[in-house]
Amino acid sequence: MEPATRGLKQSASERRLMSAIRKRGGGCWLRPRGALLVTVALALSAVLAACDREANPTPDEPEVTVLAPTPSATAVPATFTPEPTAPPPTPTQVAQPVEDPPPFPTPDIDLTDYTVYSETLLEAYAEEAALLPDAPHYFIQVRLLPGEVPSLEGVQRVRVTNQEETRLNELYFRLYPNLPAYEGAAEVSRALVDGKVATVGYLFDGTAVFIPLEGGLAPGAATDVTLWFRATLPTQVNAGTAGAGLYGFVGGVYDLAGFYPTLAVYDHRGWDLDAGASFGDSLFSDTGFYQVELTVPEALAVVASGSTLAQEPNDDGTTVWRIAAGPVRSFYAAVTDRWEAISEEVDGITVNSYYPVGGLASAQTALSYTTGSLGVFNRIFGHYPYRELDVVPLPTTAFGMEHAGLLGLAASFYTEAGGGFGIATPHEVAHQWFFNLIGNDQPDEPWLDESLANYAVYLYYEAVDWPQMQTAVLENVFRYRYDAARNLGIDRPVSGAVVGFDQSNYINIIYSKGPLFLHAMRERIGDEAFFAALLDYVQSFRYGIAYAGDLLDVFRGHSSTPIDDLIAFWIYGE
Ligand SMILES: [Zn+2]
Repeated sequence: MEPATRGLKQSASERRLMSAIRKRGGGCWLRPRGALLVTVALALSAVLAACDREANPTPDEPEVTVLAPTPSATAVPATFTPEPTAPPPTPTQVAQPVEDPPPFPTPDIDLTDYTVYSETLLEAYAEEAALLPDAPHYFIQVRLLPGEVPSLEGVQRVRVTNQEETRLNELYFRLYPNLPAYEGAAEVSRALVDGKVATVGYLFDGTAVFIPLEGGLAPGAATDVTLWFRATLPTQVNAGTAGAGLYGFVGGVYDLAGFYPTLAVYDHRGWDLDAGASFGDSLFSDTGFYQVELTVPEALAVVASGSTLAQEPNDDGTTVWRIAAGPVRSFYAAVTDRWEAISEEVDGITVNSYYPVGGLASAQTALSYTTGSLGVFNRIFGHYPYRELDVVPLPTTAFGMEHAGLLGLAASFYTEAGGGFGIATPHEVAHQWFFNLIGNDQPDEPWLDESLANYAVYLYYEAVDWPQMQTAVLENVFRYRYDAARNLGIDRPVSGAVVGFDQSNYINIIYSKGPLFLHAMRERIGDEAFFAALLDYVQSFRYGIAYAGDLLDVFRGHSSTPIDDLIAFWIYGE
């Protein structure tokens, strides 16, 4: 079948875009704001504050010896490894078990029932849900409360299965709204573990909570955790922060990422509780299943990860939206009364392109790039397994933002002539593979999803036989910016955590040098091995988490020629 975008000619707006890229040297979707000094100052003050707290505990700090997570011989949480940016967990606030009646009753739900997710997956993939019985299973009842300080109030039950080989003595949940980059606030007011009231301890300025497990959780065993939570939304988006396009109420759109307590990842280094940087992406989570009942004022509509199963009106002027999403990386919802939508089907997947008043032409452009790149990536990376993919305009200062089953593009694209759809759309579509299907530690290894997603833009233009754009992406987006980094003396290895970059070289290295590494790999091992490796990588780590070493090992496995010199040069700078 011919790709949907075959025959799509470079429009006047695209020519303007490419000319702008040539002049500016990049169509980046995270605009550098020259916040180097601020970033360094913040990082330094965070480290100093942490050191100070450790060295001079204040009398105000509660005694928490009993509740402090104790590393066992077999499981050492990552955060116990001394690192300048990750002080040992010191609970700063400990809530005692609360015996008051909960604000909402404990949801009555069968958390072992996975059948509902077959309604969100394409028929050919409907059985994949049952292959992941140990993935966390969330049931979230949450109410959106508009107002001067908009907020969300809710309760979630999570079935957590210990997928590790070691006993877990406590569980950690992330409260993303408390990350500086999200600029919001969140709290857990009450917890039950298997129906019994449990203690909640806060860590790292409330960005994580821990729930001690009486007797621990053996490998393979499951527990049922209920958390009552509340989160407030910022009402402005600060340029250049990771929160832009993630979380807040701006321009009439409630942008709801990471609003619920998200089970932290436990990996080879233990619990991962990184607070991330003020830029780049912060989310790191296991694939999970989500059944969500989101109650909003009846005038508002919800566009979310997964599929909406029902809308039920209440007597109080609100509507409950019943949504199922899974298996997905996380749950996201946008809520607004300002959008209309157009739709198109590609490879059995319904793509919905939402737009504000006056944005129909832009929505058609976004739809065309989305269906086109989805069709191409289905063939290169393996089929997108879900029934639906949504494209929404988000009030972000970045060019786009990836969510599970949904991509956000800058709302400004829909009002400015030209927009930046040509680069941002295929990039965000590729994140459905390199972020959603295959998770990675975004704060620690940002290149793993971003460099692949950006190289995918080149692959898209190659596949639809649009050589001018293909050359423009390779030369102007990748090479020009990498050369600029070298000329400015800010070149560095691709590998490394976001906190080790600053906004002056993050884009040049992660979005340009990283893709050039992949291009060099392709030239070294040949097209056949390269594309076989990409497919193998997606199939091997589908619904899981991959680390840089995993991708590099897949390339090694498919190459008949040595590649370690390439890896050393581009990735590790050796
Ligand atoms: Zn990206």
